[in-house]
Amino acid sequence: MNTDFDVCIVGSGAGAGPVALTLAEAGYSVVVLEKGPWFTENEFYKDELASRRRNVYTPNLNDEQHVIEEPDGRGGWSSEPTSVSGWNFWRGSCVGGSSNFMSGFFFRLKPEDFYLLSTFGPIDGANLVDWPISYEDLEPYYTRVESVVGISGRVVPHPHLEPRSTRDFPFPPTLEHPFVEQFDTACRKLGWHPLPTPRAILSNSAMNRQSCGYSGWCGSYGCSTGAKGSSRAALLNPAFETGRCEIRPHAKVYNLVSNTQGKVIAAEYYDRAGKRQQVDAEIFVVACQAIETSRLLLCSTGPRHEKGLGNSTGQVGKNLIFSAGGTGGGDIIYKKLGRTMAESLKFQGLFLNRNVQDWYFIDNPVWGRRQKGGTIDFLMEHPGPIAKAIDLIWDDHGNLRWGSPLKQALKKHFTEMREFKCEIFCDWLPTDNCFVSLDTKVKDKWGTPVARVRVGYHPHDIKIGNYLAKKATYLMRTMGVRNVYSNISGSPPPNLAAGGCRFGNDPKNSVLDPDCRAHDVENLFVTDGSFMPTGGSIPYTWTIYANAFRVANKIVKQLGG
Ligand SMILES: Cc1cc2nc3c(=O)[nH]c(=O)nc-3n(C[C@H](O)[C@H](O)[C@H](O)COP(=O)(O)OP(=O)(O)OC[C@H]3O[C@@H](n4cnc5c(N)ncnc54)[C@H](O)[C@@H]3O)c2cc1C
Ligand code: SF4
Repeated sequence: MNTDFDVCIVGSGAGAGPVALTLAEAGYSVVVLEKGPWFTENEFYKDELASRRRNVYTPNLNDEQHVIEEPDGRGGWSSEPTSVSGWNFWRGSCVGGSSNFMSGFFFRLKPEDFYLLSTFGPIDGANLVDWPISYEDLEPYYTRVESVVGISGRVVPHPHLEPRSTRDFPFPPTLEHPFVEQFDTACRKLGWHPLPTPRAILSNSAMNRQSCGYSGWCGSYGCSTGAKGSSRAALLNPAFETGRCEIRPHAKVYNLVSNTQGKVIAAEYYDRAGKRQQVDAEIFVVACQAIETSRLLLCSTGPRHEKGLGNSTGQVGKNLIFSAGGTGGGDIIYKKLGRTMAESLKFQGLFLNRNVQDWYFIDNPVWGRRQKGGTIDFLMEHPGPIAKAIDLIWDDHGNLRWGSPLKQALKKHFTEMREFKCEIFCDWLPTDNCFVSLDTKVKDKWGTPVARVRVGYHPHDIKIGNYLAKKATYLMRTMGVRNVYSNISGSPPPNLAAGGCRFGNDPKNSVLDPDCRAHDVENLFVTDGSFMPTGGSIPYTWTIYANAFRVANKIVKQLGG
């Protein structure tokens, strides 16, 4: 059959870029359909009002939204559309997706993460399963991401270092703030291992991209040098340059059409003018980020897929996960430091880039058997002043500050101290209370049902999060950091979502086979984080990139390459 393209990819973020590049380089024709616009480096500004207050890179919640179901405190669930609550689950709707706006703290999973159930045993109420592939299967692709996306770092031996096929990173670490020395010394005194955090940021110019300009504005902002390893800068731009990858922005896919044999034959989308369009292809790849991928599959019913594509056993949308844990921090007071260090802290830009994984596995006698722990990542406060100023509107007791007390708090913060922060990552256990379905009432501006997302968490996540938070706050206090706090909660971070279309060997409890192809649709693959049955205790993007490269090779094979 003659089709418009060999491969049609829906979405253009971390799950899409590796597939587009691999297929285009292998000589296949590819189309990428992305619902948002296509920005270039010149269109990313350090403009807090535009990025954070007016959400210019995400849809207006009246046009496109979610309905979120949360525990109501009485054993039931209460739901609210996000256009009412203002809770924004969009994180980057443009070519390159949220990967444009990530901080680029990059971590590999560890071998044990692939066998959580058999290594640590079952947990009541959690739908734990082992992955159908091992760390060894993914390792070559983690390594490929290091060189193709551009990861900078330095390997330091430590008890939980994951096995590597190369000795070190292809790019040296990004420049570090002098305060790192104090951090390393404090950790070593406690017998901990301070680890340089790998970053998806170029420390040297390479691959037609400039090196980092050390603005420090990575998190939530697009990178205007191209140093950040977004799917757009690192993968889609080179895919496009092959001449075999077409990228169509403003293409909102609302349906994947399937035929009487059950194969997908076309993607239907609305273009910028709101007109219906369609493309056909041999193979379809969905990479819309966890929630929207499940939504699209559930919306795409057909003669052989009455409950939606890939959903013959009712698994699409189930076992959605987020990154569990939370944040912490405190103030480094300039006058408690030497003059040189205090002066250096006033300048934004250089990275702290440190993490601690000493409790990736926890042997706490009180808990009996060994538990899966997590990662504590340490960083300096984001340079954006408005977000901080808004925090300061509330005092430590939750009272509104205004007038003179507010002025004093602002002056003190911006002239006498710098905030030192940590992010705590642990597993969000998959449960029956965290899933995506279609809302029966609320529709988007095109008339398609929006995703209804239940965001229940397992209490075990909080237990582990608090254990790690205690370690983090203890370290900060020993370093002389003041006003130390931590906040561990079951509130899902919308920027770190995965699951919903698990891969596995058994179609009864998974949507995708080990190659991330739908069990019941021979030409449909899913390559964003939806495939992950468990998430590890790290942010996911390196794993999403690596797995998408792995699956891309399977697609090349299926096409006869
Ligand atoms: C502020 C921030 C900081 C982060 N920091 C880190 C970090 O330090 N480390 C880390 O590992 N990860 C980080 N992340 C997470 C990282 O960005 C995501 O893990 C990654 O981008 C997910 O890839 P994805 O392909 O699933 O989705 P995305 O990259 O979001 O791409 C999905 C794309 O699909 C498009 N789409 C959705 N529905 C449709 C449709 N129906 N039709 C057409 N297109 C559609 C969307 O518009 C979007 O562009 C961060 C994210 C944010 C927002
Ligand atoms: S600090 Fe570097 S990677 Fe981050 S946004 Fe600025 S230039 Fe880009």
